[in-house]
Amino acid sequence: MFILKGIDQLTNAIAKAKKVRPRVEFDRFGRYRVSGSKGFYTVICRKDERGIKTVACTCKGAEKGLVCYHSAAALSLHIGLARQQQTA
Ligand SMILES: [Zn+2]
Repeated sequence: MFILKGIDQLTNAIAKAKKVRPRVEFDRFGRYRVSGSKGFYTVICRKDERGIKTVACTCKGAEKGLVCYHSAAALSLHIGLARQQQTA
């Protein structure tokens, strides 16, 4: 799990996601399934009451606190959905 502070920390992961093009499946708002080398991983995007955003993925890299491309792929969908909710 990592704390999302800005888009900068996602640059490498986004580049990788563009290359790998994982499948992102919507489960519910804030919860997504992203295809990886060993099947699907679950990515949870949260914002706590203090406004701190955290992203958790079930892959090995994310366990070590790395920003994985699954998280980046899920976040791009999540951010789009969050924007839609705000403008709805
Ligand atoms: Zn991951």
